[in-house]
Amino acid sequence: REPLVEVENLTKYFKVGKKQKLRAVDGISFTIHKGETLGLVGESGCGKSTVGRTLLQLYQPTSGVVKFAGKILESQQSKAGEKQYHQDVQMIFQDPYSSLNPRMTVLEIISEGLLIHQPNMNKEDRRTRVTELLELVGLDRNHANRYPHEFSGGQRQRIGIARALAVEPKFIVADEPIAALDVSIQAQIVNLLKQLQDERDLTYLFIAHDLSMVKHISDRIAVMYLGQMMELAESEELYEEPLHPYTAALLSAIPLPDPVLERKRERIILKGDVPNPINPPSGCPFRTRCPQAMGVCAEKTPIWQEVKPNHFVACHLYNEQ
Ligand code: SF4
Ligand code: MG
Repeated sequence: REPLVEVENLTKYFKVGKKQKLRAVDGISFTIHKGETLGLVGESGCGKSTVGRTLLQLYQPTSGVVKFAGKILESQQSKAGEKQYHQDVQMIFQDPYSSLNPRMTVLEIISEGLLIHQPNMNKEDRRTRVTELLELVGLDRNHANRYPHEFSGGQRQRIGIARALAVEPKFIVADEPIAALDVSIQAQIVNLLKQLQDERDLTYLFIAHDLSMVKHISDRIAVMYLGQMMELAESEELYEEPLHPYTAALLSAIPLPDPVLERKRERIILKGDVPNPINPPSGCPFRTRCPQAMGVCAEKTPIWQEVKPNHFVACHLYNEQ
C-alpha cells in the first residue's frame, strides 16, 4: 500500500530550565499507509501526543523528517502549502468537553474550518454543509443552533468528529478520542470512525493509553515507551504474539471478558514507575522495569529492527536473529 505519512528518525526535545532537556520523542521511525489506521499506544508521558502534535505541525521537530504524500514538511513552507496541509490533516481531541468552545453554537464550531478553507462558500451552503455533517456523524440535523452543553459526552465527540471532517481531510490524528467517554459509548465512537474511514478513504493515527480498544480500529499498532518505539506489528499479530516484554505487560493488563479465563491468566506486574524523560536510563529505556533485563540492556540501546515481515521490535532478546 502507498505510504501517506512517513516519519524518519523523529526527535522532539523540550528545554527544561537552563541546561536540561526533556526527550519527549527520541528518534522514532514509522509509516502510515493510505486508508489505514495506525494505533499508537503507551502510558501517559511516553511521547505519543507529542508525535501527534508534531504531525499536525503544532510542534517543529528537533530533528528528523516527516513526509506527507511524498513531500517533506518544512518549517518554512509556502503559505499555500501550509494552508493545504492544515486542511488535509485534522485532529480529534481527547476531551469533548474542553475542546468545544461553550459560547459557540454547533453551526459556528463546525463552520470554523470552512470559513478558512472555503472562504467563498455562502452562508446558506455552509449551513447546508453543517446539517449534512451532523447527519453523517449520527446527530439530529436540526440541532445546529444548539450549544455544546446541550449534548452528552458521546454527542460532543460526534461534534468534534464533524468539525474535523468539515474540510474533507485525508489524515486525522485522534488523540485518545474515547478515553474521556463511558465504556458503553466508546464502541459507538470507534464504530463511527471506522464507518467514516471506509466511506471516505481516511487515514488515521489513533492514539491510546492502553491496548483495550485500539485492536478494534487499528490495522497495525505501534507501542511507545519513554519517547522510543518498542514494537510495531499488525494488530492480530501484536495481540497473538507480542515480542517486546513491555507489549506483553500491557496486554496482560487488559481484563478478559470471560471470568474463568480472567482468573486463570497471569498478570505481568511491572515494578516501579516510568523513569523521568529528562534523565532516561542508559541502554534500553525499559530496562529498569523489564522482567527479562540482562547485562547488555544497560550498556547498549537495542536497535529497531524488522525481526519478521512487518513486525518491528527494539529489544536485545531478538538480537541473534
Ligand atoms: Fe528488556 Fe533488555 Fe529487551 Fe529492554 S532490551 S526490553 S531491558 S530484554
Ligand atoms: Mg496525551
